[in-house]
Amino acid sequence: MDRIMRKTIAGTLALLLTAAAVLSGCSRKQKTPAPDTQVNTSPEEGAVVLEPAIPAVGIGRVMPAVVVKKNRTICIDPGHGFYDNGTGENSYFPEGVYEKHVNFAIATYLNQDLIDRGFDTIMMHNGVDRPEYDWDMNEIFNPNERIAFINAQEVDYVVSIHVNAAPNPDACGVRIFYQDNNYKWNDWAKPAAEAIKEAIDDTVEITAPTTADDPSTMANSDFAIPRETHAASSLIEVGFCTNVVDAANLVNEEWQKSIANGIAEGIERFFDNLENP
Ligand SMILES: [Zn+2]
Repeated sequence: MDRIMRKTIAGTLALLLTAAAVLSGCSRKQKTPAPDTQVNTSPEEGAVVLEPAIPAVGIGRVMPAVVVKKNRTICIDPGHGFYDNGTGENSYFPEGVYEKHVNFAIATYLNQDLIDRGFDTIMMHNGVDRPEYDWDMNEIFNPNERIAFINAQEVDYVVSIHVNAAPNPDACGVRIFYQDNNYKWNDWAKPAAEAIKEAIDDTVEITAPTTADDPSTMANSDFAIPRETHAASSLIEVGFCTNVVDAANLVNEEWQKSIANGIAEGIERFFDNLENP
């Protein structure tokens, strides 16, 4: 579905469902500016300018700022895709809109946002061309195929975008799942997920406080990508298509950009903190 059509549908949906939204139990959170939003004053896009460590007193000059180019590689996995629609049946999505459409739109904005912040990125698919990791050629890219591909790449962090669904229409908000375990190269999964959670809560209009959990500590909860990737990773359920407010947000282009920006902001904060603890 093209964006203009989606936006029109989203606007209509929002009007029609306002009354239902009031009854849904999910309130809109007022957008607040990030407390530590940084202004990028670097001369090179994506570069971080560090202040001179110590003025070279007595030598007759001040050392120039040191420019450190970020070269972290983020792998972005738009969940489902092609013949795999993901969730969306019995949801508040407009007819014909499925999880795969929302995942891909947000992943695309996230990809550009991360590039704008100086990261290198890998998009798991472009929604058109059959990815090389469709090993069985069935055009359904199951988690094991995706994990095999991801683990063959040199990536520093993986984020998989999905939409949630629940029998309870009051279930709403963003849920992040991460897992630290022996498969991982490092212990970044938890602090990265928490940085993303905080950035979303700081910057995105959301229906409930974001949660970040390790599914291995939860009953009936297990996700292959957070569990199996060697790089630290998270699977982010960006909202519930079965909640009327979340569903209207998920198909709204401006909200899609906003949640992408929140995720990118969290990833940037995490890596900034690694470089400048
Ligand atoms: Zn999904």
